[in-house]
Amino acid sequence: GLVLLLPALALGQAAASDPASGDEGAVVESLLARMTLEEKLGQLTQSRGRGSDTGPRVPEGGEAQIRAGQIGSFLGVYGADYSRQMQQVAVEESRLGIPLLFAHDVIHGFRTTFPVPLAEAASFDLEAVENAARIAAVEATAHGLHWTFAPMVDIARDPRWGRIVEGAGEDPYLGSRMAEARVRGFQGTDLTAPDTLLATAKHFVAYGGAEGGRDYNTVDVSERTLHEVYLPPFKAAVAAGVQSIMPAFNEVAGVPMHAHRPLIETLLREQWGFDGVLVSDYNAVQELMQHGVAATRTDAAILGLEAGVDIDMVSGIYLEDVAEAVRDGRLDEALVDASVRRVLRAKYRLGLFDDPYRYSDPAREAAMTLTPAHREAARELARKSFVLLKNDGDTLPLSKRLRTVAVIGPLADDRRQMLGNWAAAGRPEDAVTPLDGIRAALGPDVRVLHAQGAEIDGDDVSGLDEAVRIARQADAVILMLGEDQEMSAEANNRTTLDLPDVQEELAQAVQATGKPVVAVLFGGRPLSVNWLHDNVPSILMAWFPGVEAGNALADVLFGDHAPSGKLPVTFPRNVGQVPIHYNHKNTGRPPDAEDKYTSKYLDVHWTPLYPFGHGLTYTRFRYDDLRVKTPRIGRGEAVDVEVTVTNAGGRAGDEVVQLYLRDDVASFTRPVKELRGFQRVTLQPGESRTLRFRLEPEAMALLDADLRPVVEPGTFTVFAGGSSAETSETTFEVVAD
Ligand code: BGC
Repeated sequence: GLVLLLPALALGQAAASDPASGDEGAVVESLLARMTLEEKLGQLTQSRGRGSDTGPRVPEGGEAQIRAGQIGSFLGVYGADYSRQMQQVAVEESRLGIPLLFAHDVIHGFRTTFPVPLAEAASFDLEAVENAARIAAVEATAHGLHWTFAPMVDIARDPRWGRIVEGAGEDPYLGSRMAEARVRGFQGTDLTAPDTLLATAKHFVAYGGAEGGRDYNTVDVSERTLHEVYLPPFKAAVAAGVQSIMPAFNEVAGVPMHAHRPLIETLLREQWGFDGVLVSDYNAVQELMQHGVAATRTDAAILGLEAGVDIDMVSGIYLEDVAEAVRDGRLDEALVDASVRRVLRAKYRLGLFDDPYRYSDPAREAAMTLTPAHREAARELARKSFVLLKNDGDTLPLSKRLRTVAVIGPLADDRRQMLGNWAAAGRPEDAVTPLDGIRAALGPDVRVLHAQGAEIDGDDVSGLDEAVRIARQADAVILMLGEDQEMSAEANNRTTLDLPDVQEELAQAVQATGKPVVAVLFGGRPLSVNWLHDNVPSILMAWFPGVEAGNALADVLFGDHAPSGKLPVTFPRNVGQVPIHYNHKNTGRPPDAEDKYTSKYLDVHWTPLYPFGHGLTYTRFRYDDLRVKTPRIGRGEAVDVEVTVTNAGGRAGDEVVQLYLRDDVASFTRPVKELRGFQRVTLQPGESRTLRFRLEPEAMALLDADLRPVVEPGTFTVFAGGSSAETSETTFEVVAD
């Protein structure tokens, strides 16, 4: 069979909760008892909206289908008035009057576009990230939406993969904290409030592990790595109360995730106690045929329902191909019922059976969309997400009293690019470009010259001369380089992490003028900018900063605010180093350039260009007195770690203080270090602060042979610092009972 046998896991799971308790159960059961098989399958069917001049609308024939009870939810249909009208058809004109769910990919903002998720993760600011999701929910719900297909919590160790932009990077700990923050933000504290979105943790699971970094591709991963690396953010999202989960397009070790009963039914539902809705990815139940595990649409639908995939997104396969299988006994109707229960429960939990119209609110839509406060939050988070990769000679910040500044590059004045991919209802016309932002910040007394210089990619070098000409006139040059937003996106993978050649030529030509050059990089993945690193004094990673891009950049480039982001993912020297991540194992032969038979490369150094956690600012921080309060503890005890951080430079600044841990000797190999805590602090020049981190036993645990968490006796090394590669260290010991 198709079953990947998973050992009984004891990962702190809740017992599966009783599906039919209290009012929720009563409402759900009484509806279910009155539903025909076709109406049940309708609840499990998600249809897709289409664009029109008046906004996203239901497809042709959609209203009739709603009336007939054939659709339970829509993807990409919203707008306060319109969603209200469609809801009215469902509630007043269908036989049972079950309200619809309106879903959409609200990923990093709705109309107010925040930085792309990878950038948000670079802020290491959980409160700000939660707030961004909250604002997205406030705007989206006012437009009638109930449900977002976010957060994407896939750990990504392969920057070739275009969807690395949508997640929180390579680290399971950071990924888990970001997952929780986003779930809390979208769902708020009370699901029945009219501004809460059901969140969806996606894509379950190991979607980022695609072979070759090619989206959708085969994944083959050990159970240990699955449990140590890919599953933790999902577990964290479930513990934070996430109401929905989306399986991944990929297979894991021979079983497509949309047919993966052991991971969905056994692990997620039974062991973790997840009682929300599983929504398929786009067309993915039907694609079980392409995977080669189903011969017909009916077979595919049966596999999906048996695995516990409740809702079919867009293929229509549950609606069209299941009834017959139930009637001829190939599929147990109880499985259909179980899925319908979960869908009705989601509607109940949102309060839609009390008031189906509470979400579609024209007054709130008008008042709460793209407000100055929302824009301000986007600007602040963008500033916190910028990572200063390099800053020789304190080239940054630039003075506001320069006479002439040249702003050059294909990303200097392109509104659409600033929003990044998956911009939901974001509109390019609302975005502030770097050129706009710099002009506004510098005012009329500074001359700001602009040339595009080159396209994002291609052979056309005809713009280089103009770029050089304006660079020569300037006191400083700001180069705006990188990817366009389509280059880091679903299905858009790359086999190189280099800047496109034409942009590197542009940089070289401008650098040759001898003017001070600052490079600002846009992109949704790590970039191997070796030439810039070797030749340009200052490099700022800006990702795709969102609607306030230009203002946030000007804030940082001219020193009103200092950059304070840290890399949530390793930047390799070249793509040949991939996979490269900070939390690797030591191996029997750790890399050593002097020694022949070690784990290294002939042509490049084994270390990355920039390590995980790296990020400079306009001051320097010193770390002193790293210490554990109790150097010997028993199993099951926590340990408190303290470290003193001092602002040793001349300007105020934020530091993200990072705490890492290693189990020095264990019964299984352990990573050289793993992030176990972080705190963002603001320090004035000369100011010191002593920070305390508590390491709970679960932070020290490894998975035993049965994948159960255990703390083994022995020494542990604690590391603290401003990046994964620059740490001080101390040890503590766990003693046997
Ligand atoms: C993506 C999902 C997304 C869905 C709906 C799919 O192609 O993989 O992440 O939620 O489309 O837009």
